[in-house]
This record gives sequence, structure tokens and C-alpha cells, in this order.
Amino acid sequence: MFYTEKCDFCGECLVFCPYVEYDKERAEKEMRELVAGGCPPIVGSCVTCAACNQACPTKANPFDLLNERQEETGSLGIPAAAFENFAKLSGLPTVIKQGEPGKPVMNLCIVGDMVREQLNSPLFKGVTTVEGADYFCTVGYVHLGKPSPVKKEAERYVEKLSLLGVDEIVCFHDDCYALLTTLADEFGIKVPFRPVHLFEYLYRVLSTQKENLRKVPIKVAYQAPCASRYTAEKDVYLDKLFDLLGVERVPRHYDRLNGLCCGAPLMARDKDRAAVVKGWNINDAKEYKADAMVFLCPMCFLNLRKLCRDAGMEALFISELCQRALPA
Ligand code: SF4
Ligand code: SF4
Repeated sequence: MFYTEKCDFCGECLVFCPYVEYDKERAEKEMRELVAGGCPPIVGSCVTCAACNQACPTKANPFDLLNERQEETGSLGIPAAAFENFAKLSGLPTVIKQGEPGKPVMNLCIVGDMVREQLNSPLFKGVTTVEGADYFCTVGYVHLGKPSPVKKEAERYVEKLSLLGVDEIVCFHDDCYALLTTLADEFGIKVPFRPVHLFEYLYRVLSTQKENLRKVPIKVAYQAPCASRYTAEKDVYLDKLFDLLGVERVPRHYDRLNGLCCGAPLMARDKDRAAVVKGWNINDAKEYKADAMVFLCPMCFLNLRKLCRDAGMEALFISELCQRALPA
């Protein structure tokens, strides 16, 4: 949600944006036009990464306003087929795989098929998993420049999860965690269970066997998903995980606040630009001598893994990295 009263037109958001080269004057001008209801060029050139929400010093959430304007004007030029493909996700079968009593319940949203191999690990032993249409958070619509379905579907989504009747639900998909924390709060929806981020879950599991863990002494470049811009506070668990594992997070340029979008949202509308952004990311990780890139989002993983391997780095999903620390 954009907070008009918090915006003082300082322009810092658009000066910060890594995908355009705006000076302060242009940034201020376009922000004034945007807030006044217009459609300045940034609306169409935005890659929907949400980073400017995090960069705004007053927490006014400029991306949320850009995203609304993208929906009103269709400025992103997303092809109809991309909307149709995304809408099909709402038709995925709802599946509940019952685990062991007393073990956590984990929502896979619509990423189950992308991460099935990762789930076949002692890290997830006994967990009950839910996935498919009923448990689809729809947050990905923001990347199509169409945020309204996210709000529209949020109540249904929270209700379906609530009906599971548990105190905590682990979110495998970062988008789900963003919806159940920051976005639900903005939409005025009460969430009657505690959403647990995958980082926190993995940290808990590994902490119980701390004494037996093997060190994983590699240098990694972390690729944060765009949804993490809404929930930066949970990243403390990522640093705790890296500490526990003995992993070194390289201090690369495109990390933390400066993190880059993986390029997936650009693929439907501008493959050349997507390739440029991916190149910045991979080259940066390589320059800082990372042995591997570590991923939280299955889409980022699928989108960057080949480039990563071609550049001589491993591509590891966060749970794969954690798996390496388990005793043989
Ligand atoms: S949204 Fe934030 S960073 Fe952007 S102009 Fe307004 S106050 Fe400044
Ligand atoms: S959402 Fe990302 S790409 Fe769009 S203006 Fe903000 S920082 Fe730039």
C-alpha cells in the first residue's frame, strides 16, 4: 500500500532504482507526476522488483503505487499469454500429504513440482505438505503489473490455511510469507496462525543437531527473491544459518539492499533486458569469487541456475546447502 502522506518527493527511490539511471531532479519530477495520478516513464520501465519500497527512507512504498498504475494503464506491455499461463496456476489440484503427528505443516503454494527433489531430504522428514489452488498466494501477479488479484484472493487464501487448524504454518515459498505477514497486515486481514519462514524452519531443524553438523566451508553469493523486500527482517535467520553451516557470504555489490531481480519477471516482455540483468548478477557473484549461488525462490533458481553453472559456480537451493551439513 502506498502511503501518500509519507512521501515528501525526495526522489531517493528512483535514484536508487538499479534498472534506470535517474538523477534527483528526474526522480522527483516523476514521483510528483506519479502521485498526481499520471503515468511517467518509470511505470513502464520498472522491472517490478519492489526494491524501492525498501530504499524509501519514509516507508511510503513507492513500488506499490507504481504497480497500481501499471495495472491501470497496462504500461508493462505484458503479453496476454503470460496472464493466461499465470491464471492456470489457480487450477492446479489441491493436494494434502499427511505427515507424522506433531510435525510441522508446510505450504508449498504452487512451487511443489519445482522443488519435489529438495523435499526428499531428512530436513523435511515427517512434515505435512499442502499445495495447489487452495494454497496459492497469487503474489506473483505483482510481476505482471496486476496487483489487484493479490488483495482479492488474500482472504480466501488465509481462510484455507486457517482451516488446517494448526498454530504454525511453514512457508516454503517466500511470496506466501510476504502475504501472510506484511501484506495481510496492510489488507487488514487477521492471520490466526504463525507463519514460519523457510529460513527459520531450517535453522530450527539444524539447531537441534548442532553438535553433529558438518561444516560447509564454501563462499556463496545469495540471490534474494523480490518478495523478500516485504519481509527483510526474517533475513536474520539466513545469516544465522550461514553461521551455523560455516558458509561465507561474499560481500558482493548486488546483495542485501542492492540485490537484483533474477530477471524472470522480464522474460515475458523483454528477453534482451532480462539477459543484461542476469549478466550483471552472475558476473558480480563471479567477481567476488563465490563458489556457489544460493537461492530461496524456485523461480530465481530455475531462471539463473544454468548461467550460474556455465560461469563455473554451483547453483544451490537453500535446503540443498543445509542438507550438506547433515551427518552422513
Ligand atoms: S516514495 Fe519515498 S523515496 Fe520516493 S519520493 Fe516518496 S518519500 Fe522519497
Ligand atoms: S520496483 Fe524495482 S525496478 Fe521498479 S522502480 Fe522500484 S526499484 Fe526500480
